Amino acid sequence: MAQRMDGKAVSAQVRESVAQEVDHLKKSGVCPGLAVVIVGEDPASRIYVNNKKKACAAVGMYSEEHALPETTTQQELLALVEQLNGRPDIHGILVQSPLPRHLDEGAVVEAIHPSKDVDAFHAYNVGKIMLGNYRFLPCTPAGIMELLHAYAIPVEGKRCVVIGRSNIVGKPMAMLLLHENGTVTICHSRTQNLPEVTRQADILVSAVGKSRFVTADMVKPGAVVVDVGMNRDENGKLCGDVDFNAVEPLASFITPVPGGVGPMTIAMLLKNTVTAAKMQNHLL
Ligand code: NAP
Repeated sequence: MAQRMDGKAVSAQVRESVAQEVDHLKKSGVCPGLAVVIVGEDPASRIYVNNKKKACAAVGMYSEEHALPETTTQQELLALVEQLNGRPDIHGILVQSPLPRHLDEGAVVEAIHPSKDVDAFHAYNVGKIMLGNYRFLPCTPAGIMELLHAYAIPVEGKRCVVIGRSNIVGKPMAMLLLHENGTVTICHSRTQNLPEVTRQADILVSAVGKSRFVTADMVKPGAVVVDVGMNRDENGKLCGDVDFNAVEPLASFITPVPGGVGPMTIAMLLKNTVTAAKMQNHLL
């Protein structure tokens, strides 16, 4: 039976160390500040933004919300980002995704100054991740690495399979595993014989977005299984990509949903904001 990787407990440790750093920074006159921009009324985005604000407050960090109407123009949004780029009290800027369809999300991300891009989505930061020379890491993959470290799970020399190739999870996840000397395969919707590939994985990360997508026959006995998915089952209950009940007896470690990867993501956002505050105040 797999050991469950407890994202709540590990993220609490990360938040505790962030709180200590915030305290320390405040004593030298710097209060890390995060601006969260939300456009429109997407209910899931509203929950994410509220959680991020609460998490900032809990570690003593300043945060402010810019809630803009659905009708906001590209020009207005870019003007806000520009204004936040120029504010010395704001060290991190996060524009909550998805934006309404008429807005160009890519252009908005590129408008954020790379030193304030705490999501690490800007091309500059993506390039730094490719080079292995980074200060910010995208929050979800970074949170997963933190979980692997917390459970002393070695990556070096292991067969790692990532299902999903999004810019925010799959691709950076693969790079981080590669930087730790894993032998990495990325799978996607055009991958042939997916179970054959996933069965080779010592570490299997699923970031697909489909409930019960990863079944027991796709998992090698003893594998580490990381479930990034945040889906709703037929009863509207939050669930991951992995058929948890069937895979748990097979795996060596597994992340539950909820309580696995999700809590780590916000903790890493806080960590990135502290890093941004230090960088902008020449403390790094
Ligand atoms: P995404 O952009 O929709 O990417 C999904 C990926 O899954 C794509 O690369 C897609 O392949 C691949 N895929 C779809 N069907 C497949 C199939 N039948 N076989 C193999 N691959 C398949 O999603 P995302 O933004 O990466 O998010 C993935 C999941 O993680 C979602 O449930 C999301 O809610 C969750 N998530 C959770 C957190 C967290 O903090 N826990 C953070 C971010 C995301 P193609 O590229 O070929 O289309």
